[in-house]
Amino acid sequence: MRSIQLSYGRSTVQLNDNPASRRLARVDLTVTFLGTGASAPSARRSTAAVLVQRGGVKILFDCGEGTQRQMQRSLGLTQVDEIYLTHFHADHVLGLPGLLKTYDLTDREASLTIYGPPGLEELFAVFRPLIGRLGYGLDLVELRAEDYGGHEGFEVEAFAVEHRSSRALGYALVEDGRPGRFDPAAAKAAGVPEGPAFAALQRGEEVEGSAGTVAPEQVMGPDRPGRTIVLTGDTAPSPATVAAAADAELLIHDAAFMEEDLTRAKETGHSTMRQAAGVAEEAHVKLLALVHISSRYHVGACLDEAREVFEPVVAPRDFDQIAIPLPERGEPELIPNGAREARKEEESEG
Ligand SMILES: [Zn+2]
Ligand SMILES: [Zn+2]
Repeated sequence: MRSIQLSYGRSTVQLNDNPASRRLARVDLTVTFLGTGASAPSARRSTAAVLVQRGGVKILFDCGEGTQRQMQRSLGLTQVDEIYLTHFHADHVLGLPGLLKTYDLTDREASLTIYGPPGLEELFAVFRPLIGRLGYGLDLVELRAEDYGGHEGFEVEAFAVEHRSSRALGYALVEDGRPGRFDPAAAKAAGVPEGPAFAALQRGEEVEGSAGTVAPEQVMGPDRPGRTIVLTGDTAPSPATVAAAADAELLIHDAAFMEEDLTRAKETGHSTMRQAAGVAEEAHVKLLALVHISSRYHVGACLDEAREVFEPVVAPRDFDQIAIPLPERGEPELIPNGAREARKEEESEG
């Protein structure tokens, strides 16, 4: 496994595991679906683009044609910190030149890093004449399966998927684990005085109790896992996805076809609703989101097909959001049209 060192915006790389940074994991985690359609945009669905916001960090996964307009129609032009591309089919990358150019026109200064499978440099050899000179830094990083980028409080890990393009990647956003719950009664019983010593224990330090040294593990519950979001991009069902998505809060999976078109799914390296549900079931995810759905299907029928295999499933439309609370605070929740409602609220407040 290769670690990519990176820094961007106001966040810098942090691969060390110190308790103070782990506590930062108590932040909002929201997924906004900017494009949920299949290979070509339709009136209702734009092509692939998913924005993940974790606290103040904004990461875009894929950038189909018209992604910047999808932003304008909902959250407003969003200055993302990083972009991850799953592969280079047109419906996943055509929005890049326009978005990068618009960032330049709006005087973006913060540099932008774009990640993708090998071939990213070649893609930009084609895009560069369209983009021209940019007033901000643009870094390209080619990733291979199992590469991961460390961030403050989480990592983005690449995994191999099975699409026609042999170099296609899926991504897992994995939060750092969080310290377990502090048990004040246990600390008192060990003769630790309330106050600074309590705080020291929660920071992971040993303190003096009435009967000798008290270690944090005596008074802290087991570590609590962070949240995980997995995006497959385009793919046939694959064991690598099951592994990456094990116990994830949210799996956003290719669902390009219904089971009646299974042969076509196989030929094109996509999944059926039923297959996506099978992956979700095997991985024990909390919620499955079906994307890349062809406009010729009825969404209700798609959901019915998936639900025969796996119950917690949604088929987000463009501008829907999924909020992902900490595991102990609830289940991931679909917020229909959330990205546009959030904007409206902001406007009425402002
Ligand atoms: Zn696609
Ligand atoms: Zn594709």
